[in-house]
Order: sequence, then structure tokens, then C-alpha cells
Amino acid sequence: PQPETSSAVRTTCPYCGVGCGVLATPDGQGGAAIAGDPVHPANFGRLCSKGSALGETLSLENRLLHPSLDGARVSWEAALGAVAGGLRRAAETHGPDAIAFYLSGQLLTEDYYVANKLAKGFIGTPHVDTNSRLCMSSAVAAHRRAFGSDTVPGCYEDLDEADLVVLVGSNAAWCHPILFRRMVDARTRRGTKLVVIDPRRTQTAEEADLFLGLKAGSDTALFSGLLVHLAEAGALDDLFIAEHTAGFEAALDRARAIAPTPAAAAAATGLPEAEIGRFYDLFTRTRRVVTAFSQGANQSAQGTDKGNAIINCHLATGRIGEPGLGPFSLTGQPNAMGGREVGGLANMLAAHMHFAPEEVDRVRRFWGAPRIITGEGMKAVALFEAIERGRIRALWVMGTNPLVSMPRADAIRASLAKLDLYVVSEAVSDSDTARARGRRTVLLPALAWGEKDGTVTNSERRISRQKSFLKAPGEARPDWAVLSDVARRLGHAESFAYRSAAAVFREHAALSGFENNGTRDFDIGALSDIGDAAYADNPPVQWPLPRRGPSAAKGRQRLFADGRFYTFDQRARFVAVQPPALAQGTSAEYPLILNTGRVRDHWHTMTRTGKSPRLSAHRAVPFVEIHPDDAGPLGIADGAVAAVETAQGSVELEAIVTDGVRPGTLFMPMHWSDMNASKARVGAVVRGVPDPVSGQPELKATPARARAL
Ligand code: SF4
Repeated sequence: PQPETSSAVRTTCPYCGVGCGVLATPDGQGGAAIAGDPVHPANFGRLCSKGSALGETLSLENRLLHPSLDGARVSWEAALGAVAGGLRRAAETHGPDAIAFYLSGQLLTEDYYVANKLAKGFIGTPHVDTNSRLCMSSAVAAHRRAFGSDTVPGCYEDLDEADLVVLVGSNAAWCHPILFRRMVDARTRRGTKLVVIDPRRTQTAEEADLFLGLKAGSDTALFSGLLVHLAEAGALDDLFIAEHTAGFEAALDRARAIAPTPAAAAAATGLPEAEIGRFYDLFTRTRRVVTAFSQGANQSAQGTDKGNAIINCHLATGRIGEPGLGPFSLTGQPNAMGGREVGGLANMLAAHMHFAPEEVDRVRRFWGAPRIITGEGMKAVALFEAIERGRIRALWVMGTNPLVSMPRADAIRASLAKLDLYVVSEAVSDSDTARARGRRTVLLPALAWGEKDGTVTNSERRISRQKSFLKAPGEARPDWAVLSDVARRLGHAESFAYRSAAAVFREHAALSGFENNGTRDFDIGALSDIGDAAYADNPPVQWPLPRRGPSAAKGRQRLFADGRFYTFDQRARFVAVQPPALAQGTSAEYPLILNTGRVRDHWHTMTRTGKSPRLSAHRAVPFVEIHPDDAGPLGIADGAVAAVETAQGSVELEAIVTDGVRPGTLFMPMHWSDMNASKARVGAVVRGVPDPVSGQPELKATPARARAL
């Protein structure tokens, strides 16, 4: 990390996937003044409430400042020795695939890259997954099925230039606020219409021209009906379908089986037929449509199909790759995209390469890897279940709090005690995850925002720098350096001889361009020899950035304008999606459906935003929203405390009685944990049945019951 400076440092907000540019001016006493970066193309100087309060979250209160071993402070030498020794023992005794890494969309790309390389190339375990599995892995899978690659086709500017924005499962006003302001600006400037599709009437819905408050999980019926309507209205782009796609007839046949008429779509979604008709008509007659989808679509046991049902409608109308139109995945985390780029998901290898024999061989040769893996590892839900079964014996968690955010979190907490080695790289000392214990537990102090140095990639494929402007506190160190030290102790010194984050980035960029003749989407080979000074000041850039070709060194805003995709025949694929069905329906015992999500001013499990009284004041206590039709018979009064119970566990929350949720449903936020409330962890009650394609767990529809306390 750089020493603390007194001039403004250009960096990037650590919260959502919008990836806003921030100017941070250190005050010399460990704090900093925060302002929006006027030249960053994600935000042009604006910041939302969370970003503008960053200066209030820099205190060292609750920071993990020293390594510890089984609760006792130890030297880095002793801690790293325990980690390396424990990993070696696990590999020798149970095989390398008894070791797992659980990473985070909060990590910088450089940290992610080194963790992925160490695990998949040198330890030889495929079990590397990340909290991004809970965030946008269904969008990744939908992209790959449709485009042959995990490529976001468009950019933020499309939201400025669209005539219709359709938001699916997104409370953008709270969760992607700066992008939402761009949408609102476009309404004022050019009359852009806004359609919001969400089971809850959120703040975003309040701004909509049309709000479709559909039944939980019924999105594929709504978009299947739209595909049928487009076909019957003569709105298809027949030439585009014929020349650039495959699978249209099968997808349309399936759509007809699911929702042959607007009346059928109305029955499946619980929406009035007239509202469906309005939406279909608006979509049909507006060419410049951006359909942006987020966690409401992704966090579902049918999340991949929901993404493909949306993409089908764009492919059918040739609405992709041009200004002001296209399907657009809003990623949740600041570096969910960077994690995808390095391959930090269990179903990827590295640099958007997977497990075709030539890809495995290419990565093996590039890394000089002695134990390259040859197939997929376990995705998050399966990975934690494998700990319960005793199959995984060593786990390294980095920068995430799964004991709050993972489904079945109490079962996971109990299972950690079975681990021979439990390693947590963390910035805070008292998160639920840092307080858990394995048979041997090593806590490693990590750098936090303002201290660490590297890159992140936002939702529009834009790579920005996160820079250090504060001194590293205590003995905290960069994660990439800690991982490299462990690699050296395991006998891989030469392959992990990085001297800086810039050196890691150069290698990551070189791998992306290695033997890449344009058949792989992720290519930032033009940055593979970037110097330290240029890396330090690198302006935000959008990939691809290949060494040669039209986008060399300057990046591309949009892809697929030429109708060529990354499948073997360069044609996009329509997907015949499944009819909507909840993985777990209601029962007499659990007659309600529990939905989860976020509030405006907190981020994830509140380890940072919880430090700001201003942010905490917006919603001071955990709550559950319940419809008056359900609250009345249950005797639950507005403002009273209610219990929410599922087959997994129970929580106790303040009840908010509101018609903003549909009858028969509940909503609770995900942020509170044992750190800052009792009995309010979302992970304690959510079942999380995974999507069979993406492995993303269902976090939006768990059968539940509520009662007054
Ligand atoms: Fe940070 Fe997201 Fe707010 Fe931008 S919109 S300031 S990235 S939280």
C-alpha cells in the first residue's frame, strides 16, 4: 500500500456494482473527505448515500489488526506456517480436493487472481467458489447459454439513450442508485418510459410508468408471453433470427406452451390482463429497450431461465449491440465481474476459460501449474454441504460473511467445527464468520477499502482502480501477498514472486490475451505490459482491450453489433425455458412466501455501513413487511415484534404492515447479523434451493409462517 497522502486520490466506491469513481482526500488522522469523481464515466461526480458516507466508516473500531491462531495472537510467521501446514496435511491425508476456498465479490481482482491460481493450479482443488454465486451466477449462466460467453453486451450509456427501460427484479433506486438517477434523468430529457417488474412495490416501482407486481417466481411466464406476443404482432426481426441465431422455433414453441395468450400470462403471473397488454404493447412498439435484470431474477431456483427468457425477447427483435438497447445484468457487488474475469467461480478455470482440454492445457502451460484441475468444483451451496458431510477438511474464507448471508447458515455454523483447518481473511474482528471456530482456526487481518490497492470491474465491464490512501493498520496485509506467502511455503515460490498488485494485474492481463485469437471475449492483453506508474493512474477502461484489432487499447462500449457471438458457429442461442414453478411451495404449516433483499443505506452484512450513524438511521432495526390481509388474522400490529419461522429456523423482527408486499408474502432485509441484532440473520431462515444450471440459491421464495410475539 502507498503511504498516506494529503492530496485527493482517485479511487472507486467499494459497495455496489455501479462502480462509482470517488475522490478521497485523507485528513492525516486516519480519515478522509469523500467526493464523487467528476470524470468517472459511471457517475460523473455523483454519489449515493452509501458512497458519500464512506468517510464515516474509516475508523479502526472492530478491526482485525493481528493474526491469531485458535484465539491467541500470533506472528504472521506462525499464522502462515499454520495455514500452509494445515493445507499440506489436508491434501496429503484426504487429497487436495478436501481443500476449499470461499471468496468474495468484495475482493480486488488481484487478490481473486492469486487465490484462484493457487487453488486451481498449485494446490489442485477445484473447490473455489464465491459469494458472487449468491449474486449474479444465474446471469453468468444465461449469458453463456445465449452468447457462448459471459459477456454483458451493453453499457450504462444505453440507459441514457433508451426510450424504454424495463427493470426486472431490481430495486435500483436503493440498490443501484446512481444508475437509477441516470434512468430518471433520461425520463426528463427524452421521455424514457420505465416499467418495473417486481413482487414488491419498491421505491423504484413508485417512479415507474407501469408497475407489474407479479407473483413470486412467475417471470418466465411473463417473458414467454411477451415472446409469443412479439411473434403474433409481426415484431420479430426475421433476418437477425435467420442469420445470427439458432433455436428460435423450439423456444417459441415452449413459450406458447407456457403462456399462449396474455390471458394465460395474466393467470400465471397474477397480473391484470390489461397491464400485461400495456407492457407487451410498449415493448413491441419501442425499439430502444434496455431490459435490466438483477437479484430478483438471479436469486432464484429458476434464475438462469429468467435471464434467458429476457434475452430471448431481445434476440427475437434483434435488439442487442446498438446504442440504447439490449439485455443488461446489474451486478450486485463492486467486483463480481472481476471475480468472473479471473475464473473465481467453481465452474470456471481462469480468464473466462472453462474446462475444454485445450483450455486446461493453455492455462497449465501459462501458469506452469503442477496440479491443474480438469473439471468443475462444488458451487457454494454444495460446497458448504460437503463441509457438513466431512468431505471438505480445510476451508479458507476471504472477505465475506457466509454465516449471515448463506442459506441454512446455522447448519453451516455447526459444520465448521468439523474442519481440521478454518482460515478467515477478514478486515473486521467480530463478524459472525470471524467468530466461528474449526478444530484449528487462523484469522488473518486484511486491508479494507482505503488501504488496499488494485482493480475492480463494474457492471458495464469497466475496470477501475481502487487505491490505497490510508496506512495499513496494525499488521494487516494485502490478500494477494498473504496468498503468495502461503504458496511459497508450499514450495511454489517462483510462480508467486509478485512484488506488487501491478505485477499480479500484468500477469492476469497476459493470461487473458494468451493464445487468444478473438475467440474468447475477455481479453485485456493490451494491459499486460502496463508499467507501475501507468497502472497507478490507469483511467477506467472497458474490456475487451486486446493487443490488436479495432478495440485495441481503447475498449468497447458494446458487443455483438455485428451479430457474431462466441458460440462455435458464432450464432446466439434461444433457450426453451421451463414453466415457472417455485422450488418449494407453501403448505398448511408454512403458508407464506418469504422474500429477502436490501435497504437503501446498508451494504451486505453491515460490517462497514453499520459504523455510520447517518446510514443506520434510515432503517434502525431489522424488520419484516407483511400485507394487512395476513397481519390482521395473525394479530400482528404495525410496529410490533413478530416471529418469522421456516423449516430452517426463526427470526424476530419489527413488523411493518404494508400493502407494498403481495398478500401471502413477507419481505425481510438481509443485512442484520448477530453482530448488531439478535435473531435477525437472514441466513438462519432461508432454504436456498439452487438453480440446477447456475447453482445460485433461491433467496426470494422460502415457505414461512409469521406470528405475533
Ligand atoms: Fe457506491 Fe453504488 Fe452508491 Fe455508486 S451507486 S456511490 S457504487 S453504492
